[in-house]
Formats: sequence, structure tokens, C-alpha cells
Amino acid sequence: MAIVRKLISQSTVDGPGNRFAVFLQGCNIRCAYCHNPETQAMHDDEAHEMSVVDVIRELEHCVPFLRGVTVSGGECMLQPEWLTELFLAVKRLGQIRNHPLTCLVDSNGTIPFSHYPELMQVCDGVMLDVKAWDEAVYSRLTGAPSNQVVRENLGWLLGCDKLTEVRIVCLSGRVDVETILENIAETFDSIGRKAPVRLIRFRPQGVVGELSNHPMPSDEQMNNYARFAHELGLGVTIR
Ligand code: SF4
Repeated sequence: MAIVRKLISQSTVDGPGNRFAVFLQGCNIRCAYCHNPETQAMHDDEAHEMSVVDVIRELEHCVPFLRGVTVSGGECMLQPEWLTELFLAVKRLGQIRNHPLTCLVDSNGTIPFSHYPELMQVCDGVMLDVKAWDEAVYSRLTGAPSNQVVRENLGWLLGCDKLTEVRIVCLSGRVDVETILENIAETFDSIGRKAPVRLIRFRPQGVVGELSNHPMPSDEQMNNYARFAHELGLGVTIR
């Protein structure tokens, strides 16, 4: 059983193509810009336990319209065994229907993917949040002591060709966007492979606390970040 916050039967913002999105309850960090703070606690009245069979029952009628399934959170890697079971069941369903489905994870990268070989065998890729590069910046932003595992995941996922996308939430004055981009470019160069990078504009909607009135980065600021990334040889998109 997993603790599921919500299901979206057809989403176009949770990875490539039209996807069935599963949002698991519970997160192990506390980002100051979190849009869904209600997903952070491991238990919540609006979340409920679901088996893999329950989820498959919800998604099987959508199969002809789907490119795949994305599991997000909270932090879905807190429930890795269930995730593995779900992905195995999704792959089986795709085979039975003769309609292959891809299985993606959307993660804050704080759990080492290398510890879950069975999951990584059936997972097609990870959309990895790199929230900050500097450890002190990361700690201030997330309340977590270190981003060492996130950095290791970046290289490890790229090395085994499972890095679908790197995501950076651009929050002027709080996130070291240029440093993140420089270090991503360095990691790509050292491994000799690239992955798409998505620059996500910070938006205060849903955010509680000190950043609830923080301004969004301007178009000019976002374009400057994108230009900087292009100069580093990165393929970026802005959302
Ligand atoms: S990782 Fe995601 S769900 Fe967890 S606190 Fe950060 S933004 Fe919220």
C-alpha cells in the first residue's frame, strides 16, 4: 500500500506526452517555495492508502490516450518498493494492451537511486529537481542539511541514461541558478552525455510563509538565465 494524495488521469505537465500522474503523500524536506505544503506530512486526511491494483484500475481505461505514467509527490522515492511494483504492473498492462507505456519518477533527488536497482530497471527516467548547488543555499531553502545525494544522483542517473530532465525553480535572490547551471554543464561534460534542463519560474500561488509575497522572476531575468545556459552548451526550456 502507498499513501496517495491524488491521481490525475491525463496530465501534459508531468513529463513528455499525455501522462497519468500519481502524487504520493509525504516529503522528507521542506522547501520554502513548496506549492503543495499539504503533501509534506506523511499522513493527511485528504490522502488515502491505495494498492497497485487500485491505481491500475483507475488508469486502465485511459491507456489508449497515454504515453505513460509519472509518479510525483511529496517525494515518491520515500515509497520505493510500491513504486517498483506499480511500474512493473504498468509495463505489464502496456504489453497486454500492445500499447507500451513509459514510467517516470519526479523526485527531489534526496534518496540515492543507485540503491534501488530493481526500480531503476523498470523506470524509464527521472525528472530531477536540483534546488540549489551550494550546500548552505540548499539548507536555507529546504531545511535539509546537505544536497550531496542530489549531486550524486545527477551524475549517476546521467551515467546510466535515466535522466529525463533536470528541473530548476528560479527564485531570484534565493536560488543560485547560475551556479547550478555551471555545475550541471560540468557534470554533463565529465560524463559525456546531456539531458534537457527546464527552468521553472517561481510562482507564489499556493506558497505559505515568507515567500508567499516574493516576486516572480521577470521575463528578462528568465531569458538571462536561459541565455547563460545556452552559452554553457545546455539545452533549456522555460516554464
Ligand atoms: S520537494 Fe516538492 S513536495 Fe517536498 S517540500 Fe519541496 S517542493 Fe514541496
